[in-house]
Amino acid sequence: MDLVHTIWDEFLTIAKEEVGIRVVETWFKAVTFAQWDAEKKIIYLQAPNQFVRDWIQKNYYALLSTHLGRLLHVENPSVSFLNATQERADLVAVPTQEMRMVPAQVAVQKRRTGLVRIQSPKKQSTINKSYIFENFVVGPSNSLAYAAAHAITEKPGRLYNPLFMYGGSGLGKTHLLHAIGNGIQDQNKGATVLYQTADRFVTEFISSIRFDKVERFQEKYKNVDVLLIDDVQFISHKEGTQEAFFHIFNVLYDAHKQIVFSSDTVPQDMQGIAERLRSRLAWGLVADIYMPDIETKIAILKRKAASHTVVLADDIAHFIASRAIANIRELEGALIRVMAFASLTKQELSLELAQRVLQRADAPERQAIDLERVVSVVHKQYGYDFKQLQSKGRDKDLVFVRQVAMFLMKRLTNKSLRDIGVFFGGRDHSTVLHAIEKIEQSLKEQTDLQVRIKKIEDELSR
Ligand code: ADP
Ligand code: MG
Repeated sequence: MDLVHTIWDEFLTIAKEEVGIRVVETWFKAVTFAQWDAEKKIIYLQAPNQFVRDWIQKNYYALLSTHLGRLLHVENPSVSFLNATQERADLVAVPTQEMRMVPAQVAVQKRRTGLVRIQSPKKQSTINKSYIFENFVVGPSNSLAYAAAHAITEKPGRLYNPLFMYGGSGLGKTHLLHAIGNGIQDQNKGATVLYQTADRFVTEFISSIRFDKVERFQEKYKNVDVLLIDDVQFISHKEGTQEAFFHIFNVLYDAHKQIVFSSDTVPQDMQGIAERLRSRLAWGLVADIYMPDIETKIAILKRKAASHTVVLADDIAHFIASRAIANIRELEGALIRVMAFASLTKQELSLELAQRVLQRADAPERQAIDLERVVSVVHKQYGYDFKQLQSKGRDKDLVFVRQVAMFLMKRLTNKSLRDIGVFFGGRDHSTVLHAIEKIEQSLKEQTDLQVRIKKIEDELSR
């Protein structure tokens, strides 16, 4: 079971929310989670060079320790970087690297240090081999999209063109796009399949203008047999890019090349899209994907566990599937936490263990509580109003109450560290993280604080 990799992926998802996609792409994607020493509670990471290592240690140490600690269910693990002499031979062939689309810059960095030999990104397929039809569980919520996706692999460009799949985040759109790519390549080894997210497409287009390579950019897209564009909504309000894309679309369409889109909404509801492009997005088949029912969720959990050679008992699967979750990504996240905990602590996977591990994440009515409400209840309890909390005031009591508010916000709302920092007048994510750790620490020692926080939580969940 490749748990360290799974946990690292989980961490990347959390980090994306906490500190933003830029930071994750630039720094964390360059790093691998090499080893976990459960006894000494040390997380070993590996960075491509000294610069990345220093930067991460200086700026993101707390973030790493806190979230990896939570995922591993240990408190304040230390985070350490393996240095060159400690590198083990088997670290070189990190399997997830080839599945992930490695940003060019990372690939270059790694090649330079000689740690990981990765093909140049140009030759590397853009298709993720692990997303296939065989491991996609079909239920009422996704059967239309699945059937259409599967059908076009038989007759690319001839059946539904374009195919437009839409649905909320984490419901399987990206999975299906790659499955189409894999399916077509299985049938026809020579087919050129290109997967691209719309925001990368935008960036690529912009830099092609900057470096006077627009023609080459156009050529790249016009010469494919299958074009898979993920999260096409990111093309909104980008007139120049839409223009370029419109042109590419027409060329491919006229040549009966298959085009597939994913999006978070139907074409009609997409904002900031040129009319002629919008109509083309809906020319073929528009298929929705929505939240799966409990049976499908259970099937997904069992399939996922089986891929880690774990047989998931019915009661555990049912328990995990019936918790309130926003999407399948979260469902998988919950399962991974449970399996990781059982495996790392060498315990039997049981219902009781699953309940214990997931309990904390089940804060009631997480969605409904917003930052303002937390402020108003904190005000009632402690007497400091929003202006004071937001101020730069360093008075000891005020600082403490501000930390309590931050702690509650993180615990009870879906806001990220960054959002909370911004809410408090543009404070940094690390300030918020520090506040949370401070309060978590105090909670252990001070029963009166426990009582007070409980009171606030009760009031908020009313
Ligand atoms: P989206 O692109 O819609 O945000 P993803 O395709 O990234 O969602 O799916 C999120 C996670 O859930 C992925 O790991 C994916 O493999 C998994 N997943 C989604 N739907 C299914 C399904 N029907 N069967 C198995 N796994 C699924
Ligand atoms: Mg996606």
